[in-house]
Amino acid sequence: LHRNAGETEFHQAVHEVLESLGRVVTKHPEYADEALIERICEPERQIIFRVPWIDDNGDVQINRGFRVQFNSALGPYKGGLRFHPSVNVGIIKFLGFEQTFKNALTGLPIGGGKGGSDFNPRGRSDREIMRFCQSFMVELHRHIGEYIDVPAGDIGVGGREIGYMFGMYKRLTNKYEAGVLTGKGLSYGGSRARKEATGFGCAYFVQRMLETRGQSFDGKRCVVSGSGNVAIYAMQKVLSFGGTVVAFSDSDGYVVDEAGIDLDLLKDVKEQRRERVSEYVARRGNGARYVKDGSIWDVPCDVALPCATQNELSGPDAETLVANGVLAVGEGANMPCKPEAVRVFQKAGVLFAPGKAANAGGVATSALEMQQNASRDSWSFEKTEDRLAGIMHNIHDACADTAVEYGAPGDYVLGANIAGFVRVAEAMRAMGVI
Ligand code: NDP
Repeated sequence: LHRNAGETEFHQAVHEVLESLGRVVTKHPEYADEALIERICEPERQIIFRVPWIDDNGDVQINRGFRVQFNSALGPYKGGLRFHPSVNVGIIKFLGFEQTFKNALTGLPIGGGKGGSDFNPRGRSDREIMRFCQSFMVELHRHIGEYIDVPAGDIGVGGREIGYMFGMYKRLTNKYEAGVLTGKGLSYGGSRARKEATGFGCAYFVQRMLETRGQSFDGKRCVVSGSGNVAIYAMQKVLSFGGTVVAFSDSDGYVVDEAGIDLDLLKDVKEQRRERVSEYVARRGNGARYVKDGSIWDVPCDVALPCATQNELSGPDAETLVANGVLAVGEGANMPCKPEAVRVFQKAGVLFAPGKAANAGGVATSALEMQQNASRDSWSFEKTEDRLAGIMHNIHDACADTAVEYGAPGDYVLGANIAGFVRVAEAMRAMGVI
């Protein structure tokens, strides 16, 4: 604890994984190796750097950049970059730690890493975003590469930011190294279905989980928090599965649209105009309402998909959802449910999909982007989505089967933690103490 003082989110993530490991060491005493577990919790490398840039007024701004290269036992470090004012080393470490097990669950050859900056993109002009991304890459480019570390997007980093960073990497290195970043645009080496992958994958996972109880999304009421990349494409897939989305949010408030969301309108508000969700209500004109304060989880639903950020769903929120009859919860975001909320869902018998399994579709499709780049190929949307659906079904089944094998049927948290841990631990043991 003293070594990682004050890093609350990192402690929370490590605690959750270690809690699941008791059953592993009983069954496989070879993993009862404290030094191995200590190494798994210690990042291989952490880089913290200054990011100076000039805003539109000509003033110099200074932000802090991070890249935590957590674990490369299974492949090059892989994980997104987050630009949000709340970013600090504890948040990046929690995300990198989770990423290691998530990436292992995909079955693809990728290690775990994460990075970002406390830069706040909100209200910044396009040129400011570009200058920031370029300055960020001036330092980051020394630490990444197709065979070293392959960043992607996360909160505050989408196609526009990846484009600016890729351009600067290309200029600095004088190399067209397409596989150095994923989430690229289609015109310069991106993969079809990458933008949709995390949200689609989450819906695929939850659909399969519902099937274990003879249910599906068809006819279900869904609440999805957030309105960013993950949330929008989770909603799109829920709609295609026959569900209705009645509420979504941003960090200022939430929208309830009892008639069912108009996704084209939301995409126009968020993706084209980069506006707030309150604008959706202003333009929808059908009685949809905007709630500034309060919790989106008060809106009754059959399926809840938290897709905004960590710790956004509390114990009392979980109790409200259970009282309102929620059937399933799928974490599109990373660690959005507080530990006490997870306990409430599990105690009530609600199907619960943890983020490291349910949102792994994004990084899996990033690995497919790397495959396409390495083979100088470009797959169709259908082929890529088919691969994604297959990977999500495999992850679901690996979690469910592992939970059964370790005596806790239906416990997807335990299943995901153990299945991910065993894959990473096996590779680390084989490579000796490095
Ligand atoms: P975006 O930046 O596209 O969207 C984030 C959404 O969450 C926005 O609606 C944002 O609202 C809201 N949000 C962000 N921070 C907060 C906060 N502190 N409180 C309340 N709302 C907040 O990010 P993504 O959709 O890419 O990421 C969402 C989550 O999914 C994150 O946890 C991320 O780590 C996870 N994830 C993302 C993957 C990807 O492929 N993009 C892959 C796997 C996981 P506002 O606009 O007001 O800030």
